Amino acid sequence: MSIDLEALYVDLHSNPELSFQETRTAGIAAAHLRELGLDVQEGIGRTGVVGVLTNDPSLRLADARSVQATGSGPRGPVVWVRADMDALPVTEETGLPYASTAVGVDPDGETVGIMHACGHDMHVTAMIGAVERLVAERDQWSGTLVVIIQPAEEYGEGARAMLDDGALNRFPRPDVVLGQHVGPLPAGVIGVRPGPQMSASDGLKVVLHGRGGHGSRPESTIDPIVMAASTIMRLQTVVSREVAAGDPVVVTVGSVHSGTKNNIIPADATLQLSLRYPDDQQREKVLEKVHRVIRAESAASGAEHEPDITTLHTLPATINDADATARAVAAFHAAFGEQAVIDPGLITGSEDVSWFARDAGVPLVFWFWGGVDPQQFAAATAKGTLDSDIPTNHSPFFAPVIHPTIEVGVTAMVAAAREFLA
Ligand code: ZN
Ligand code: ZN
Repeated sequence: MSIDLEALYVDLHSNPELSFQETRTAGIAAAHLRELGLDVQEGIGRTGVVGVLTNDPSLRLADARSVQATGSGPRGPVVWVRADMDALPVTEETGLPYASTAVGVDPDGETVGIMHACGHDMHVTAMIGAVERLVAERDQWSGTLVVIIQPAEEYGEGARAMLDDGALNRFPRPDVVLGQHVGPLPAGVIGVRPGPQMSASDGLKVVLHGRGGHGSRPESTIDPIVMAASTIMRLQTVVSREVAAGDPVVVTVGSVHSGTKNNIIPADATLQLSLRYPDDQQREKVLEKVHRVIRAESAASGAEHEPDITTLHTLPATINDADATARAVAAFHAAFGEQAVIDPGLITGSEDVSWFARDAGVPLVFWFWGGVDPQQFAAATAKGTLDSDIPTNHSPFFAPVIHPTIEVGVTAMVAAAREFLA
């Protein structure tokens, strides 16, 4: 009797849930993990699930001979394998027979369509398949497998929530953390690199304080709109003038709000920024430059109050440990052949998976696996239309092919986990 992974995937895809609302998904994952014999706890970091499988074949043999077991703690290497499970406020437009029609309410109280537009349904499916295989192969390895089914990756908050809920103290601490993400690569291809794999990011909110007054008498005011305009333009020089050409840094002002009427100079202006950097060193430097520009433009306008700069969210860079990644790549080569494993370059998206490894002080390996029909991918590559023809994560048209994406995800996770289990 084996789990029907295609049915599981279609079910999860058709029933997506927003971040921190993944109760149905969590329940399904927990039930499968329990059936597979894991020790499962739910509600970790609100909706997260943790399953633990302590496996010592020699001990089982000893038990069978009625020799008393010693201790009950973790045995051998402890490997954390993580899958995220939340969906996005996106209305699905794939036209697939199993497309989602779900709607829900987001934290702002807005009614939104919900879709697994980032493939986290595939992550959960592949994880359940991988655990099933690891359980079936349990006489071939020893150690402790800890399965993390994480909520709210899309808010960048789920990993933090599980850690704040004591994940590192309540479960065996990891020696290594593994995770994978489905993406716009051909199905069958694994993309992984040592070092920076995904950008760090910060979201900032900036309130610039001026002094309001009549639009006909600017001399009696401190105009926050001119202040905001100068700040926005000057911020564009951070990347173009102060960061080396080869460093993938992004400074985006994604929102600007000020004023209500043509003849009123408002009292303040609010900007929202999205910042991306390849590593912690760049993060520190770029943040310092951005703060400097904002403060200096405020002072240049004669502002009487310092601007308020608050962090909306912060995500660390996803940095793959060099030695652990080399081991995982060797395992992928053995499983799929060398041709199937590529370096995808630094992805400027961001992830919260590395909080687990950072808090534990252990290596992380995080890789991508392809979900695009290889023929479709080859045709788009030949035409030079990859960017327009292949829907990427977060698109309402994002639709990984079911096969062989599930099988490759299962095999990749098993191969990497076995590499670090004894
Ligand atoms: Zn996403
Ligand atoms: Zn994602």
